[in-house]
Amino acid sequence: MTSDTVSSFGQMALNIPLLKALDDVGYENPSPIQARTIPLLLEGRDVLGQAQTGTGKTAAFALPLLSNLDLKEKDPQVLVLAPTRELAIQVAEAFQKYASHMKGFHVLPVYGGQEYGGQIRALKRGVHVIVGTPGRVMDHIRKGTLKLGNLKALVLDEADEMLRMGFIDDVEWILDQTPEDRQIALFSATMPQQIRRIATKYLNDPEQITIEVKTATADTIRQRFWPVSGVHKLDALTRILEAEPFDAMIIFVRTKTATVELADKLEARGYSAAPINGDIQQKLRERTIEQLKKGKIDILVATDVAARGLDVQRISHVFNYDIPYDTEAYIHRIGRTGRAGRKGDAILFVAPREKRLLHSIEKATRQKIEMMELPSTEIINDKRIAKFKQRISDTLASEELGMFYQMIEQYQLEHNIPALEIAAALAHILQGDEPFLLQNKPQRSKGRDRESWDKEDGSQKRNSSRRDRDRGRDRSSRKDSGPEDGMERFKLAVGHNHEVRPGNIVGAIANEAGIDSQYIGRINIHDEYTMIDLPADMPKEVFNDLKKVWVAGQQLKISKMGEDSHSDERKPRYDKKGKSGKNSSDKKRSEKPRDGKAKPKKDKKKKAKIRAKDKKAKGKRKTDDSKPKKRVKKKPD
Ligand code: AMP
Repeated sequence: MTSDTVSSFGQMALNIPLLKALDDVGYENPSPIQARTIPLLLEGRDVLGQAQTGTGKTAAFALPLLSNLDLKEKDPQVLVLAPTRELAIQVAEAFQKYASHMKGFHVLPVYGGQEYGGQIRALKRGVHVIVGTPGRVMDHIRKGTLKLGNLKALVLDEADEMLRMGFIDDVEWILDQTPEDRQIALFSATMPQQIRRIATKYLNDPEQITIEVKTATADTIRQRFWPVSGVHKLDALTRILEAEPFDAMIIFVRTKTATVELADKLEARGYSAAPINGDIQQKLRERTIEQLKKGKIDILVATDVAARGLDVQRISHVFNYDIPYDTEAYIHRIGRTGRAGRKGDAILFVAPREKRLLHSIEKATRQKIEMMELPSTEIINDKRIAKFKQRISDTLASEELGMFYQMIEQYQLEHNIPALEIAAALAHILQGDEPFLLQNKPQRSKGRDRESWDKEDGSQKRNSSRRDRDRGRDRSSRKDSGPEDGMERFKLAVGHNHEVRPGNIVGAIANEAGIDSQYIGRINIHDEYTMIDLPADMPKEVFNDLKKVWVAGQQLKISKMGEDSHSDERKPRYDKKGKSGKNSSDKKRSEKPRDGKAKPKKDKKKKAKIRAKDKKAKGKRKTDDSKPKKRVKKKPD
């Protein structure tokens, strides 16, 4: 199916409260993965979807599964397994958002590092949808606090990530605990052999969904991207608009609401911009396009649907403010410029999590999309000055200024002030409180976007299995000279005989105990047990939690290996809540796995995150923070 032929949400058998919620969030039409997956899941079919973040896959499973829920039943009906707590929270939020008109609906995110008490209470009260990381979900099943007897559907989200993090045994164990007749949707960006094996073993005659891609892009179009996270997009856009010479531009966003909001913001910044989306009446849309053709409007902020087939010669630039769902949508979008052999420019904003989509676009179009240079402060300021001067010249040339002449002359005589000073005061009035020039220091946000991109990109280049191997080597091949300062050695009841790999251990400890994986030190795997270095003075709570974590089918049963002999000064200190205030020494930072896999843990309740105080570590954490933070605002109960 192509994005030209996608059906509307209204045509799907989704329930009314969901359609209302979709209207609230402003989704105009289903994305390709949604158009294909929703009808199948509504029918109760199993689905094997090859999709990545940014394609709209969350709604692709959340909407039909919500539509099929029986809200009167209190036992969990849907279980979503996700590799990280961040994703679990994000998916739970999405369920909450789409179910906003479904009275009495409850979703519960469950992940390691969080108190059991609250989760158990919520589970007792009744929850329709659980979204969790495998380890914690397993724990609840074993404790008997999560009962899956009534489960109707199971989703494996980002299955290849779960495989990479060493959770696949846990996932299989969970799959074995679910009723035979449950429906399964498995989503994965890639389909390694182990994921295919799981699909074959557990899915019932699944429909496989991969979206066909068109590969033709005009080579007269220069394609560039800029790495940016949500909050900095508007800043970056206005900076580019100021420096990039363009005739007319079409800016693509994902939702109807966003077309209006962004057009308003651009208008407020002095651009002649207008929105077009599927909700705007045909007549008005035509009028807007006419205005664009005639040069009365320079920027059109559009959704994919509204801009389909648009052919306006003036469009020199296509701006992908929100990344398209897939390569095909990208090709449609940028085809609005560079028409009939003319030159055109396409610019794409890419958030760190959307990198894979960028790579697929490059692969499918067989064209490299270069990282653009954001115009420097000097260039922007020169442009502002030139524009200001031009406005003066234009006004002097074309406006009738008689009355102002008189007034200024009068003022000059009354106050004996030179005309130059009066002109400067008037310019100040015109400018208002907004500074006229950009600050000379580089804007941190933008640097940060790029910095974190570069950092992540380095790690992206290595393939995942290699990453796991590297991590294993990094952590296990150093000569054993006892734990480093601030670290303590522990023993885990899992070893080679259980087929454990370092990646399994790091993944489980990072996720379940909330210890940032960069603070997990050397790992030495023996046949029956493993020795591992972790930050010293681990809070009892975390320690007890870790005992119960399952890896490769074994409980870790963590225990201390002898006394710590290091000076107090070097030890990271945990406060009562389990946090540590000790600085992270350079030594410790060198323990960081070189695969860049370490995911920042942002949960406030996280028990053992070390607060690195030295400047370098601060800088580093800042780049990590550029990842979008998502929270379930209100913990559903
Ligand atoms: P996902 O791939 O599920 O992470 O979704 C990526 C983004 O696309 C999220 O911000 C969603 O809110 C947004 N999104 C999902 N479906 C649609 C749709 N049909 N129309 C517009 N935006 C959507």
